[in-house]
Amino acid sequence: MEDRPHLKSMDRNRPGDRKGVMALLIVSVVACTVLSIIPIFILHGSTSAGRFGFAASCVVLLAALACALVFSLSHQLRRVEDARLRDPVSGSISYAAFLDMAGNLLIKEKGSIPRVMVHADLDRFKLINDSFGYLMGDELLRGLAHVLDDQLESDELFCRAYADHFVLLLKYDTKEYLIERLNGIHERCPRLPGRTTSDSWLVFVRSGVYEIKDWSMDVRTMAERANIACQKAANSRQAVSFYNESSLQSMLLEQNIETSMEHALDKHQFLLYLQPKYLLVDDSLCGAEALVRWHHPDRGLLLPDQFLPTFERTGFIRKIDLYMFEQVCATIRRWLDVGETVFPVSVNLSRSHLDDFNLVPVLTSLVKYYGIPCSLLELEITENSFRDDEQGMLRMLTELKTEGFAVAMDDFGTGYSTLNILKDIPLDTLKLDKGFLDECVESERGRSVITDVVSMARHLNMHVICEGIETESQYLFLKRIGCEMGQGFFFSKPLSVADFETTVMGTARSMDPQLKMFDYMPGPSSFFQPNV
Ligand code: C2E
Ligand code: MG
Ligand code: MG
Repeated sequence: MEDRPHLKSMDRNRPGDRKGVMALLIVSVVACTVLSIIPIFILHGSTSAGRFGFAASCVVLLAALACALVFSLSHQLRRVEDARLRDPVSGSISYAAFLDMAGNLLIKEKGSIPRVMVHADLDRFKLINDSFGYLMGDELLRGLAHVLDDQLESDELFCRAYADHFVLLLKYDTKEYLIERLNGIHERCPRLPGRTTSDSWLVFVRSGVYEIKDWSMDVRTMAERANIACQKAANSRQAVSFYNESSLQSMLLEQNIETSMEHALDKHQFLLYLQPKYLLVDDSLCGAEALVRWHHPDRGLLLPDQFLPTFERTGFIRKIDLYMFEQVCATIRRWLDVGETVFPVSVNLSRSHLDDFNLVPVLTSLVKYYGIPCSLLELEITENSFRDDEQGMLRMLTELKTEGFAVAMDDFGTGYSTLNILKDIPLDTLKLDKGFLDECVESERGRSVITDVVSMARHLNMHVICEGIETESQYLFLKRIGCEMGQGFFFSKPLSVADFETTVMGTARSMDPQLKMFDYMPGPSSFFQPNV
């Protein structure tokens, strides 16, 4: 990873040979003119030799001009042809040329060499263009084209098809080797300069693979299939995805989601579900997490992983997050109005908000509008978002905290290099991921790791909650090591607000009306008591 070239250090395209050709043209016209004029001066006169010389000079001059004209026309034609065959931004061959050449190659080989069509694109290229400017975006495309060019073996082709989309025709050995090669491209892709010299933006190259089985298939169709696989990779946030028959089906579903999501929001098809959180010390209710569900008119109740990847890709997630945030504000307001004892509710925030400077003012105005304190709202941000843009995250967290919101790092233990971040970023809560819990409780070593993480959180004055608790033994273990809070099917599944109010809040009221949250640990709010 470290030896990735920086974009700045990459060569720009060499100045084209256009200037050279023009210079040659001018020199030849001048030379011909001079050669034709000299005899005019020498031989011009009334003698027949003089007249002959004059006529010959004129012929030479006209011939030179005609040559220049033909030369310039053929050069223009070559440029037009070149533009058809070459991509001016990346310097690769054009998509049209790629289709021709790949078609010819496949016909020639008649299936004797196993091959794949690969579609590769850059993660969040639009954001890169917006943040770094189009010139830097073009540099990046050229840089990637250099990398692809280096990686190609004999009889392999690539081109930039459009925007940040590249298509490759590669030889296919084994799946593992191909993935290794594609990862190699990703690792060698240039970095973009960061805000400081030491930090730089890692560009993520994602690929979709179509294994060519039907050699009579049109090359364009093969490339489209690779593109479908690439979109599948984008939706599932994978580096590489292979095309299969269900890819097309999921692509159609995906399109259906994309075309109906705005309408669904207008029609209030997105529902707020709440999953309770409990203090492990006495099993008392201490909060809830807001989780979105889509009540789809044709497909029933959809879970987040069926639609959130599309929302992330399209940026629609920003609207959904704000919608959920507002639903939570309205729900807390209603609880306060009817005299319920309320507790903090956490709302998930997508990483897409990182560059949204308007987010915190909007959240603040919503809590003001509903007349509830910010301390009743916690924002959950997944661990991986911290890795994406640490500086952007620090800015956003500082703003959120200044306004009085609590912030949790969600899915802790699924990413990496976060220990360093914990040192610098002012978080209120560490939320251990279900996967981390499942893995850790398996072995003695794992149990030590989770115990240390819990005590580290405590030393950092952070709350710690473990999610995805499913079994009694997990619950007892976490309780024993002093994990402060728990959430999971062991206690309750996420519930509609109505079910939450009857089953969970009803129980809590009867359990302990004076319940105090977080009162044995320093940190955010205690229960907010309504003014009734
Ligand atoms: P998350 O924020 O980590 O939420 C916890 C997920 O774990 C929820 O899945 C919850 O139903 C599930 N879960 C809780 N306890 C258990 C358990 O004991 N066993 C198992 N197997 N699962 C458990 P859900 O509701 O499907 O949400 C998945 C993810 O989608 C969430 O993970 C969150 O990252 C995202 N998400 C959900 N709602 C929103 C939202 O409104 N905005 C954003 N940006 N993301 C959301
Ligand atoms: Mg969460
Ligand atoms: Mg989580």
